[in-house]
Amino acid sequence: MSDEKPAVSNFIRQIIVKDNESGKHGGKVVTRFPPEPNGHLHVGHAKSITLNFGLAADYGGRCHLRFDDTNPEKEEIEYIESIQEDIKWLGFDWGEHLYYASDYYPQLYDTACKMIQKGHAFVDDCTVDEIRKLRGGLTEPGKNSPFRDRTPEENLDLFQRMKAGEFEDGSKVLRAKIDMQSPNMNMRDPLMYRIKKVDHPRTGSDWCIYPLYDYAHGLSDMIEGITHSICTLEFEDHRPLYEWFLESAEAKHRPQQIEFARLSLDYTLTSKRKVLAMVEQKLVSGWDDPRLFTIKGLRRRGYRAEGIRLFSERIGVSKRNSVLSFSDLEQAIRDDLDGYAPRAMAVLDPIKVTITNYPDAEVEELEGPVHPKYPERGNRKIPFSKTVCIDREDFMETPPNNKYRRLSTGGQVRLRYAYVITCNEVIKDDSGKVVELKCTYDVGTKSGVTPEGQKKVKGIIHWVSAEHGIPCEVRVYDRLFNVENPSGDDYLEHLNPESLQVNTQAFVEPSLKGTGPEAHFQFERLGYFTTDRVDSTGDKLVFNRTATLRETWAQKS
Ligand code: ATP
Ligand code: MG
Repeated sequence: MSDEKPAVSNFIRQIIVKDNESGKHGGKVVTRFPPEPNGHLHVGHAKSITLNFGLAADYGGRCHLRFDDTNPEKEEIEYIESIQEDIKWLGFDWGEHLYYASDYYPQLYDTACKMIQKGHAFVDDCTVDEIRKLRGGLTEPGKNSPFRDRTPEENLDLFQRMKAGEFEDGSKVLRAKIDMQSPNMNMRDPLMYRIKKVDHPRTGSDWCIYPLYDYAHGLSDMIEGITHSICTLEFEDHRPLYEWFLESAEAKHRPQQIEFARLSLDYTLTSKRKVLAMVEQKLVSGWDDPRLFTIKGLRRRGYRAEGIRLFSERIGVSKRNSVLSFSDLEQAIRDDLDGYAPRAMAVLDPIKVTITNYPDAEVEELEGPVHPKYPERGNRKIPFSKTVCIDREDFMETPPNNKYRRLSTGGQVRLRYAYVITCNEVIKDDSGKVVELKCTYDVGTKSGVTPEGQKKVKGIIHWVSAEHGIPCEVRVYDRLFNVENPSGDDYLEHLNPESLQVNTQAFVEPSLKGTGPEAHFQFERLGYFTTDRVDSTGDKLVFNRTATLRETWAQKS
């Protein structure tokens, strides 16, 4: 399904090919995407989704969607729905393989009981603080809990009573009995279960003990028959524990944990906690604000799933963490939209241009290609009349130098697909702002019709007929943060006050009449724009700038 096949094999593919050759998993490839339903997905998740679903598709396997809902407090049904919507929108399908870690609670509980009976787990009465103190540090070994030597019978009894709700939150935990001297902190008798007398969105009040991530995750992989359990690098040190749990559970089938570097982009922040804070403080319009790097934000900004997948494939997978440039993401989005998006003309900040020698009531129907590279996509009709609008940026009373290619007092410019005009008079309001240009057109310069129509002038600018153009709103986005790495706690101090510029007086050419939501265009000379999926309606078109035409960020910084 990908538009661009990976140019080089990556280390995960190499592992899979080798496993298939050796028959390690019976030639099967079963991956999973395991989000915790405590927030909306972001661009980093898109990377993981593309990787996991992509590998499954490429090797004739399958990819499960598993909600890792082991923490009842922060999780919400809203997120469960949103996550599914985003994965589908990205173009992936888990088919019937939708799972919830909470569905495995009974099996996880039974397995824990068996581990207790084997002497692999014990109930600890220490408080979280005491446990932390006894854990030691990187250079200092841990100390055994005074409750570590309870008999399996006593442990089983206590664990059953924990489940029955006899003890208060925090008064007891179940821990794996591994090795307090281990140089790997994760192996120092890690927690398996804690008491939490809170309802779970899916299991209600059925449980008051909840399994911890490391325990629940590996066993969920085992239960589902996952072959390659792909996660981010921070779990590398957890791998021995992942394997220990599988061993202790006597797993017949052993999934293999493989780590890769997480995706980070400069000038962005994806932490759920921080994004939530910005949403709550109304610093952004919501989880789908087009300046955010949530999937919903990127989508609303006008990124297509194809573009996001292209980016994920281009960056590949690596074993080393690094911060990628937002420019690389934007380049993939441009490369996707270039061939796809029909062309149109729009004027964001209009100045009225009156063509004094053009007949008053006349309207000419000019034409421009829908896409310059694909003539088979036909032409669009562009009406030309006595009054047109041009963008304020395309006019200067006095050109700064002789390289200036736009319109100036006394200067000439070609209106794209139309005529060459000369500016004769500038009209200003009381504040000195230019409100109108009086120009004349050269009738023999009509684009592409007569040989004189080819008349060379320095510049070509875009325009819209004032009478026929559709009034619309155009939202132009810039980076949300003005520092490369806004990940510190003072991130709110680095918000870019100019990250959103709203043009309420804009016009688009009339061929865009009736455009529905999420339609992508290249506005000639201006960039890629997409109708807003929430605010753009038949009555009022609202466009978001999706991407600039070429790299501008790198130059700014
Ligand atoms: P965050 O810390 O950004 O809020 P998370 O890791 O807590 O995200 P999960 O719901 O646990 O979010 O993630 C689901 C899956 O997505 C995990 O397998 C995780 O490794 C992967 N993932 C999360 N963030 C990234 C990222 N930046 N790059 C690649 N994969 C990621
Ligand atoms: Mg996580």
